[in-house]
Amino acid sequence: MTTRRIAVHEMIFDKKKRARSILRILRRLYPNADCALEHRSAFELLISTILAAQSTDVNVNRVTRALYQKYRGPADFLKVQPEELENDIHSTGFYHNKARSIIGTCRLLVDEYDGKVPDTMNDLVRLPGVARKTANVVLGTWFKKNEGVVVDTHVGRLAERMALTWNARDSKDAVVIEKDLMELFSRKDWTCVAHALVWHGRKICMAKKPACALCDLSDLCPSAFSFENLPPVKGPTRKRSLRQRSERR
Ligand code: SF4
Repeated sequence: MTTRRIAVHEMIFDKKKRARSILRILRRLYPNADCALEHRSAFELLISTILAAQSTDVNVNRVTRALYQKYRGPADFLKVQPEELENDIHSTGFYHNKARSIIGTCRLLVDEYDGKVPDTMNDLVRLPGVARKTANVVLGTWFKKNEGVVVDTHVGRLAERMALTWNARDSKDAVVIEKDLMELFSRKDWTCVAHALVWHGRKICMAKKPACALCDLSDLCPSAFSFENLPPVKGPTRKRSLRQRSERR
């Protein structure tokens, strides 16, 4: 039976039981799982999460270390021309849209929220460039409010592989996956389960070639070992990289 069919046909009672077992193991594996974006305030976390779209946390952290020395709060982002901000965040990608979102967000924070980041879903999703995922990161990580489950690329992929979603069309169907995960896990665990799934997705259940043989969840995962016949992940061969190097000279 395919993962999709298991996801649909497994009784919700059994699925919740399996989800509880998965979470128990994830907690053991990643007792300190937390948001990988460096931040010292709700504001920094908000801006870093906007910058993290289509980028890596490592890359965003590299940029923000200097960025938050220059821009200390929302008002500072409004003092510069958009081109200057674009230049400062260039390496995170999509810098034009991100700069527009950041400036729009800072404008609204200054005009309507006294320069402070609000702590409700309704207020957060009013900010330009902030949708449920970003709002969930800020609410769960900084304000310790479990309003939803953060579904990023790792969480979406793992939810699909482990048949923890049954209504989603695919692993990118984030809003539907979030709804299914909210039904499966207790509210108090929503932030924790997202962080732990992200860590597991980075370390074991990678996008291209999951390491099922090393995975402590394999007994609970309907996709376990179904990737065994995939070709190895391709990197440049030694021959090719030598050629590329000589061509660059
Ligand atoms: S068993 Fe394999 S597919 Fe399932 S969660 Fe583990 S690594 Fe991912």
